[in-house]
Amino acid sequence: MKGDLMVDNLIWIRGEIIRQSQATVNVLSPMAQFGLNVFEGIRCYWNQDKGELHAFRLKEHLDRLMLSSRLVRLPSPYTPEQIEFFMKTAIQANDFQTDTAVRMTLFGDGQGTWNTCEPVSMFIAPMAKSRTRLDKVPALRACISSWERINDNALPPRAKVGANYINGRYAHLQARHDGYDLPIFLGQDGKVAEGAGACLFMVRNGHLVTPPTTSSVLESITRDTLMVLAREAGLTVVERPVDRTELYLADEVFLCGSAAEISPIVSVDGYALGNSLPGPITVSLLKAYLAIASGENLDHPEWRTVVHSRS
Ligand code: PMP
Repeated sequence: MKGDLMVDNLIWIRGEIIRQSQATVNVLSPMAQFGLNVFEGIRCYWNQDKGELHAFRLKEHLDRLMLSSRLVRLPSPYTPEQIEFFMKTAIQANDFQTDTAVRMTLFGDGQGTWNTCEPVSMFIAPMAKSRTRLDKVPALRACISSWERINDNALPPRAKVGANYINGRYAHLQARHDGYDLPIFLGQDGKVAEGAGACLFMVRNGHLVTPPTTSSVLESITRDTLMVLAREAGLTVVERPVDRTELYLADEVFLCGSAAEISPIVSVDGYALGNSLPGPITVSLLKAYLAIASGENLDHPEWRTVVHSRS
């Protein structure tokens, strides 16, 4: 068994703090059968100097959880304020004094089917997860997937629903089978959409370009953060439809997300980008992102919420 499967953290579920191995869900629940859940992945960064754990853009994640829950008509029994409190309780129960990722999931509980709307339960599961190391920045080889991204009139990518990720699964496993690190999806319109679990940016002619939120993408919080940070650094940021061949000709391409942070891509379909190393704008955005998220850079205090501190 792999090491990470042996981890048995304390989680919050249905109002209780228990070991994750002790949590149970009915095998006939809509979540277990059909992936009926809405969820968020939130990163918390440990600030060693302050002895504080900072959740990054918690409010925006909670707002998006509510939006997903409304879209898929899986009503949340809890307010964002209550969920924030439960999340702190779960993190503090584990006394995490290290970088942490929190999975919070509202799910179709009980014994129902794909069109059941209640009961809805929740779990909040924190786990230790380190930030990207600046001395070990990944350099990934991507392909354009032959699988198409789900779209707004079939399975809206705007809602962060568990079942949506099966679309990512097809593309990711195909990409790995074909010898690439990860896929990039095109949408139904043939334009670039996003990665399997992360949004996409490219650098062309010194400008940062990203597909609009109507291009079959999740309304990514990291994407929003990077647009703000890039503009503050004096870069021009353009949201517009992107052709696949623009990626082949780009100076830099990277994916971004709360989990991925910033993942530099050094080739697309075998077309080498730049000098086949993570590009300078990509790396400077990664540094700026981590400094802000961890609170080493004090700008944007509204993006950080203290969720635990050194005892
Ligand atoms: N797209 C998809 C499909 C994702 O799963 C994620 C990760 N949540 C993202 C984009 C990036 O979103 P965020 O920056 O809000 O984590």
